[in-house]
Amino acid sequence: MIKGSCLCGEVKFEISGEPESLSYCHCSRCRKAAGVFSAVLIGKADDFRLTEGQEQIAKYRAGPDAKFERCFCKQCGSSLGDMAAGDIYVIAASALDDDPVIRPTLHIHTASKPDWYEIVDDLKKCEGDYIAEKS
Ligand SMILES: [Zn+2]
Ligand SMILES: [Zn+2]
Repeated sequence: MIKGSCLCGEVKFEISGEPESLSYCHCSRCRKAAGVFSAVLIGKADDFRLTEGQEQIAKYRAGPDAKFERCFCKQCGSSLGDMAAGDIYVIAASALDDDPVIRPTLHIHTASKPDWYEIVDDLKKCEGDYIAEKS
């Protein structure tokens, strides 16, 4: 079981089973919402369970083309990711309290990365999103 929470602790969740991927998202929306980039944990939607703080979660759709709504805590502003996003959960790894064991393998949306931020590791880079990369 992997537990997670927001900064103030009002929102709590847990993940059972093994996540599918952990990647760094460099899209312009993560840059604004999470600071430079976000580490994103993805897995099967059925494995994700919100245990506390449903009423504290605010949602924001970043534009008409945004596939999912970004979730964050109303009280502390912590990014929580898209949470339930169809068949998958997309969680901001910054909200995890436990080690998810899985390690990052991929940088996504690198085309949107700011020029002032340089990726210095050897992980695979993808200009688009994770779903595009998978298929
Ligand atoms: Zn909070
Ligand atoms: Zn992003």
